[in-house]
Amino acid sequence: MSIKIDNLTYIYSANTPFEKKALDDVTLEINDGEFVGLIGHTGSGKSTLIQQFNGLLKPTSGDVYVNDINIHNKQKPLKEIRQKVGLVFQYPEHQLFEMTVYKDVAYGPTNMGLDAKEIDKRVKDAISTVGLNEEIYEKSPFELSGGQKRRVAIAGVLAMEPDVLILDEPTAGLDPRGRDEILDELVKLHQELGITVILVSHSMEDVGKYVERIIVMDKGKVKYDDTPKKVFNHIKELESMGLGVPQVTYLMHELKDKGFMVSNEVTTIQEA
Ligand code: ADP
Repeated sequence: MSIKIDNLTYIYSANTPFEKKALDDVTLEINDGEFVGLIGHTGSGKSTLIQQFNGLLKPTSGDVYVNDINIHNKQKPLKEIRQKVGLVFQYPEHQLFEMTVYKDVAYGPTNMGLDAKEIDKRVKDAISTVGLNEEIYEKSPFELSGGQKRRVAIAGVLAMEPDVLILDEPTAGLDPRGRDEILDELVKLHQELGITVILVSHSMEDVGKYVERIIVMDKGKVKYDDTPKKVFNHIKELESMGLGVPQVTYLMHELKDKGFMVSNEVTTIQEA
C-alpha cells in the first residue's frame, strides 16, 4: 500500500487570530513495504502529517492518495482507509479501557463487524505478534508494566490487519530496555509480515539505527528525505535542529554502506 502526499498545506484555526501553518507545501511518497523514520523537533509538523496519512485531518490545500485513490474524493469510505493505515498515538496505553487485555485487542476487529471466529484469530495472532502470550488474555490492562501496556495497544491496531502501521513516539517514557524491546518488535513486524512501518520520533538515537529511510521535518517542511547514510551527511545541520546522531549509529551505517553485515544490537564500536 502506498501513500502519496501532494503539495499539502495544513493550517490550524485558519482565518482566526490563532491560525498556525503546521504543514507547508509538503510532497512525499511512502512506498509499499518501507520502514521509514519521520523525524523532527517538537512542533515541526510530524503529528499533523501522520494524521493526514489516514484522513484524520483534511488538508487546507493539496491532496492525499492511498493506493492512488484520493482519500477525500469519497470514492472509498474514510473508515476503510483508517483500518488499512493504522495509527498508534503517543502514550497509546491511555486508550486502554476494557476489563481484559483480550477484550481491548478485540475492540477494533469487533467494530469492523467481523465474525467471532475471525475476531478470536486476529486477537490471538496480534497478541503473539507483539511478543506476549495467552497468560495475558484475562489480565486487566492496568496491571501490566509500561512496556506490556504499549504492546497491547499496538496489538489492538494490528488486529485490524493494517497494511501500514504508523507509530507516534512509540518509545516515549519507556526505560532503555522497554524501548529496545518495542523497536526490535517493530523491526520483526516489518521483516516478517512485510508491513510498511512509519516510526515517528524526535530522537535520532531511537530511529536512526533501525530504519531504511529518514524523513526530516523542519518548520512544517520536508528538510531531508533519504537513506540514513545520506541524511547523516548533514550532521551539523541536524545537530543545530536538536537531532544529533549518536556516533555508534553513524558508524553502523558507514559499515553497512561498505557492505558489512551489522546487527541492530551493536551498542558500542571501538577502534582497534
Ligand atoms: P510535532 O508532532 O512535530 O511535535 P505538530 O504536528 O504537533 O508537531 O505541530 C506542528 C505545529 O502545529 C506546532 O507549531 C504546533 O504548535 C501546532 N499545532 C499542533 N496542534 C495544534 C492544534 N490543535 N491547534 C493549533 N496549533 C496546533
